[in-house]
Amino acid sequence: MAASPPALSFLKGQLHVHSAGSYDAKEPPEQVLKFYAERGYRFVSITDHNRVTVAPSPSKDLLVFPGAELTQNATVCEPAPAPGFRCLFHTGAVFLHGVSDGQDLKLPFQQGRFAAFDAQLSLAERLGGIGMIMHPNFHFAVNERLLARLVKRGVKLFELSNAALDSQHPGGHERAESHAEALWDSVLSQGLLLYGVATDDAHHFSEAPERRRHMKSAYTGDRGWVQVYAEPNEASIRGALEAGEFYASSGVDLVSVRRDTEHWRVEIQALAGERYETRFIGSRGRELARVQGAVAEYDPQGDEGYVRAVVRDSQGRKAWLQPVRLDSR
Ligand SMILES: [Zn+2]
Ligand SMILES: [Zn+2]
Repeated sequence: MAASPPALSFLKGQLHVHSAGSYDAKEPPEQVLKFYAERGYRFVSITDHNRVTVAPSPSKDLLVFPGAELTQNATVCEPAPAPGFRCLFHTGAVFLHGVSDGQDLKLPFQQGRFAAFDAQLSLAERLGGIGMIMHPNFHFAVNERLLARLVKRGVKLFELSNAALDSQHPGGHERAESHAEALWDSVLSQGLLLYGVATDDAHHFSEAPERRRHMKSAYTGDRGWVQVYAEPNEASIRGALEAGEFYASSGVDLVSVRRDTEHWRVEIQALAGERYETRFIGSRGRELARVQGAVAEYDPQGDEGYVRAVVRDSQGRKAWLQPVRLDSR
């Protein structure tokens, strides 16, 4: 990635956020886009529940890609949920084409877990877009077997970090993240390739202070994002996401990344007073190396199955680098 032409750079993007087009959010889409434009985002996809929201970009520097969160919430499904849990199947559908503001994308109910996701992915594809599996661990919607099956079906992206739900995890956000990483490693260890995104899943913007005053949770923005190594246009950004040319972040930014079968080098945008630790991880989640400091390097030996890396700062914020498979080397 580091040796690419200068037209490419890291573009900060948001792939999961709600506006007044969702039953559980109130912020006008124009305000949502303004929020992200003001924070240096270069692209945003508003993903309202079963509904397309299209609003004009407030800035020439912010690309807006029509999207939706295809949502099926039920109490009954197959295999059945554990006691006390529901069947919540949510697929992010982004880069949609030929859709219009307010368009309803509700699908008929599917009882089978695979069938439900398959129908959602098919709809995203029919609309020219791509589907990503959202919050797989929420209500244990997707286990490692189902996720592997979905990857074999063609899924390339899943939500590794969801700022809204992870912050609600009873064990804390680090617990939620380690569960998501374990799920990821279990799929990668089966010889498959899957990339992880971080998102806000923000629902509350101007109403956040009021909610906090009433001790209600506020799902705010700019807590989880992707940095995509691309040119600022839809084809390049989409292509880079599908090729894993990006990293997911919950607050750590990177200066440069080299990740291939021969050599890894990660340069972190170090903040004053912060300490950084980078872990390189291989098959079955095995830790290959642990490096302190603003630059981390690793030379794959060839027998790791795959290599991925995660950077953590002293406050627990992270950057997740996408895996590279070594099997075919
Ligand atoms: Zn959702
Ligand atoms: Zn959502």
